[in-house]
Amino acid sequence: MAKRVVIIGAGIAGLSTGCYLQMNGYETEIFEMHSAPGGLCTSWKRKEYTFDGCIHWLVGSSPSVSVHRVWMELHAIQGKEIVDFDEFCRIEGRRGEVFTVYTDADRLEEEMLRIAPEDERAISEFMGAVRKFAEFDLPVDKAPELYGPIDGIKFLLKFHPYLRLLRAWKGITIGSYAKRFKNPFLREAFPLILGIDEQCTMVVLIATLSWMHLKSAGYPIGGSLEFARSIEKRYISLGGKVHYNSKVSKIVVKNNRAVGVKLADGEVYDADIVVSAADGHYTIFEMLDGKYVDEEIMSMYSNWKLFPAICQVSLGVARSFDGHPHALNFPLDTPLLVDSENRVERLFVRIYNFDPTLAPKGKTPVILHLPADHGYWTRLREADIQKYRREKERLATSVIDILDKKLGDIASRVEVYDVATPATYIRYTNNWKGSFEGWLPTPSTFGKRIRKTLPGLKNFYMVGQWVEPGGGLPAVALSGRNLAQIICKKDGRKFHAFV
Ligand SMILES: Cc1cc2nc3c(=O)[nH]c(=O)nc-3n(C[C@H](O)[C@H](O)[C@H](O)COP(=O)(O)OP(=O)(O)OC[C@H]3O[C@@H](n4cnc5c(N)ncnc54)[C@H](O)[C@@H]3O)c2cc1C
Repeated sequence: MAKRVVIIGAGIAGLSTGCYLQMNGYETEIFEMHSAPGGLCTSWKRKEYTFDGCIHWLVGSSPSVSVHRVWMELHAIQGKEIVDFDEFCRIEGRRGEVFTVYTDADRLEEEMLRIAPEDERAISEFMGAVRKFAEFDLPVDKAPELYGPIDGIKFLLKFHPYLRLLRAWKGITIGSYAKRFKNPFLREAFPLILGIDEQCTMVVLIATLSWMHLKSAGYPIGGSLEFARSIEKRYISLGGKVHYNSKVSKIVVKNNRAVGVKLADGEVYDADIVVSAADGHYTIFEMLDGKYVDEEIMSMYSNWKLFPAICQVSLGVARSFDGHPHALNFPLDTPLLVDSENRVERLFVRIYNFDPTLAPKGKTPVILHLPADHGYWTRLREADIQKYRREKERLATSVIDILDKKLGDIASRVEVYDVATPATYIRYTNNWKGSFEGWLPTPSTFGKRIRKTLPGLKNFYMVGQWVEPGGGLPAVALSGRNLAQIICKKDGRKFHAFV
């Protein structure tokens, strides 16, 4: 009889785990607390506009990197048009300077040299790394957890030049590399390219630009929820079942074996294996009451840095933005107060003028992400819902005002706006502290492997961004694929994956 596997969470990791286990003869069911698949990989509709909440770049969107195969196996991108941008983003300075971050490495190098000829050395070192990294393609065939000594040696022999490259750059943060530039504008603009914490390792920036250069980190037309729904469809077609509006409150354990899950409404479902593809902190400290931890886990959850919480401000604007950059970072005349802990001096605006499926012709979704304090927003929502709503409104109207001055013809064209705060992310995805991508890959955490099991607990596994430092869609989809291989191996089955 097929083993019964219960999976908690229908984010990309949970759906991927379900697909690969179904391909291998397991009987799986997913319990998802929300009413839709995707988790963080989602979009939402307000009036005529679809506001996208996730994909800016999808690594593996073309066959030039191996993880493409995973998207094909999950039926995630078949039939989808992919947009490969010429410009990754545009960054403006306070004195009229403009840095266009081209996706083509040669154009990008030219652009950086145009801005800062005095920084030729640092630019050429950086661009050399981007080009070199573009030759490196991490194999996805076999779960790293199943590598034996021979696999390890083969890997080292094949990839040692790239591993040297990784080692050399891993210890440098984006912020510290920026300080090497003499040119003040490049020094300011460089850490803004990805729009993430400067403490992130340089490897993330180098890798992202190399995938852009390869045209394998495009945007799938239709957006994030459509993307997630394609994988959900694949899962169901393989015989899987998703229970929505079904929050798991506890993992049922007998004699240190996971034997099922208990839902918030009290119903219990039995399983031979339980997989949590949900938030790591909630899984370990709530669903399992913190009973299966060791020093390493405690240290991670006490000391590791997270991708921060954010507010997403989304505007539905009744006009087109032909000729405008799709991603623009610009300085503000007066800092914008986001919450008690965050005041920003720049805005990064994304204009969805490249995806006609998200709004009727002549109308455009415009989206901004702002750093936010999860404690402030969750406390405010609990204490005073009216004030919480007023604060969201204040944020949206401030942003509209700024964009009206910057881009012109915005304020009177806004038909609808929406503000998602860290409290929203927690309510809809349960992610710890509202983090949008789990563990930040810093010099000390990048490349660290987190076990998919917990000490002392049998028949239980974790997948997704809380066991894959750096998170991101390819990493979490692969997390599910790797786990299916691990489970197959344990059960003495040959692993199958097919398109
Ligand atoms: C604004 C933004 C932009 C991003 N941009 C990109 C990008 O361009 N490229 C990229 O690769 N990645 C991007 N990411 C990151 C990417 O979305 C995440 O790393 C990835 O989706 C995480 O997937 P996951 O399945 O591990 O977790 P999640 O998406 O968090 O899924 C977990 C699921 O579990 C459910 N759940 C939680 N607790 C329970 C419970 N108790 N019971 C039942 N269900 C539960 C949740 O509702 C959720 O559906 C972005 C994320 C955000 C927010």
